[in-house]
Amino acid sequence: MRTTLLVLAMAWSGFSGASAHADPSIYKVVVLADAGSATRAQEYIAALHCLSPFSALLRAGELELPDSPTIYTSDEVVCTGGLDGIARLAQCKISSDRINALIASATLAPIFTSVPNIGAGGSQTPIVSSSFPWTTALHETTHTFGFTDDYAYTAAETADYCTGGALTAINGYSNQSMPATFTTEAAAIASCQTNIPWCTAAIAMGTPVTTANADGTFAIGTPPPATCPDDRLGVYAGGACQVAVPAATWRPSYCPTIMGFPTLGEDYCPVEKRQALLFFIKKYLPAFYQQQIADGAAQQLNLPVVQLTQSELDTGWGCARPSDDDSLKAATAALADGLGNCKLPPNSAF
Ligand SMILES: [Zn+2]
Repeated sequence: MRTTLLVLAMAWSGFSGASAHADPSIYKVVVLADAGSATRAQEYIAALHCLSPFSALLRAGELELPDSPTIYTSDEVVCTGGLDGIARLAQCKISSDRINALIASATLAPIFTSVPNIGAGGSQTPIVSSSFPWTTALHETTHTFGFTDDYAYTAAETADYCTGGALTAINGYSNQSMPATFTTEAAAIASCQTNIPWCTAAIAMGTPVTTANADGTFAIGTPPPATCPDDRLGVYAGGACQVAVPAATWRPSYCPTIMGFPTLGEDYCPVEKRQALLFFIKKYLPAFYQQQIADGAAQQLNLPVVQLTQSELDTGWGCARPSDDDSLKAATAALADGLGNCKLPPNSAF
């Protein structure tokens, strides 16, 4: 049987694959790779074993991770870019009952490919080139859990993702019809709590979610922290749709995350350059993101929620971080050579 698998980048439609899942009592991950991308896939698997919240889900018996990738041949899977006329947007054609059965048995099945510089995310089967660091696969996997990008889309991208109503994700909210200012602070807070998914949680943590304007009006928005890293959950101005909806676009984390580019408002950077920067970030997922992923996995499969330890939330790691592979360092150094305007903010400490 020949099956064509189409995956759209950044189509963070939340969870997928549950209906095809063989054992609903566990979140099963299958990792697929061709021979040329096996090393990168192995790095990803090693990291996931120790990265919070996946390490905690493993401990709780709610997650199944392989020890190594399943290697596919060029007869079984062919991945190409150019989907929808976008060079880096990937699709994989699968013509193997073995591979199809594996994917059908899994909740999540990332596909690594040695075809360079292509990728796609947001589905049961994110696709990632081995020319990117393993963190790119984590980025795409996080999309699968219902997260949007924390970086700003270009004007062209906003036409695809930021028009036609509100964009609502675990870590992003944009709404063209929301007012930029409110006459009272109470009205701003009420709108925040009604519309922005994590606003109430931020207030519960003691974070201010409004700012007072000089003219006496109020806006939704948490003042940015003075330095990074700073993990405090807030309702920070900016995010995926800030080019299209500057006055009504928010994200829960100000400092760099796996889902975003470090500096708010800088020019667009190609994805491989953003991911090179992310290599230097020791904590990929803010505490709020970690717990949301754990909660989402449990909710999807109707399993008990796993409460992460404070240590996991603080460090982002449930056990020792895997040592950084030399080839990853070399690839990252090569990418960092051409970072252009993709600079870390001066107050960032990574
Ligand atoms: Zn993304």
